Amino acid sequence: MSAFSFHETKNVISGEGGLLAINQPQYANRAEIIREKGTNRSSFFRGEVDKYGWVDIGSSFLPSDIVSAYLFAQLETLDEIQARRKAIWQRYWDRLAPVLPEFDVHLPFLPEFATNNAHMFYLVCRDLAQRTKLIAALKAQGIHAVFHYLSLHDSPYFQRKHDGRPLPNSDRFSNCLVRLPMFYELGDSDVDYVCNSILSHLSAS
Ligand SMILES: *Cc1c(COP(=O)(O)O)cnc(C)c1O
Repeated sequence: MSAFSFHETKNVISGEGGLLAINQPQYANRAEIIREKGTNRSSFFRGEVDKYGWVDIGSSFLPSDIVSAYLFAQLETLDEIQARRKAIWQRYWDRLAPVLPEFDVHLPFLPEFATNNAHMFYLVCRDLAQRTKLIAALKAQGIHAVFHYLSLHDSPYFQRKHDGRPLPNSDRFSNCLVRLPMFYELGDSDVDYVCNSILSHLSAS
């Protein structure tokens, strides 16, 4: 089984929601029941049984028709959405990759084996202070750039369970990573505006 998220921050969205891909029929049948509140209602609709009832555990995991319609339209234009997001990603890269390393700001790394899903474009700053100033400078230009996940081992819940070993890479990405705006409607001139704002801030500081 594999899961895909349609959370509002993703490339294709339904607000909240996701997709479960299953490659074995027996699990697909059970998943269908679990998402239908533990009932075999889907079988009933297909005419396989003459009444439906509770046959397993479950809850209400079905998206509504309205949400599904909203999502379906995006799935129909998935190639277009991905092509645009990749173009935005590439434009950021082309403008920033040659110049940012001299400011000790690093760009995403794509290993040979990986493909780019153009989900996000991020920078990794030198330290927390540099990132804090960059986010503030962009905000002053009307650009909403954000930091990303905080380390699990630092979270109030997991702190108690963590054995205390240092996790320097985790700390580094918590403190130094900044996400740049990345959405389908972002125009080329918007991307250029973001890049110019980053470069003028870094050159001046
Ligand atoms: C993907 C994502 C979520 C939600 O993920 P689900 O698997 O849909 O629950 C929440 N916050 C951020 C920042 C995310 O990128």
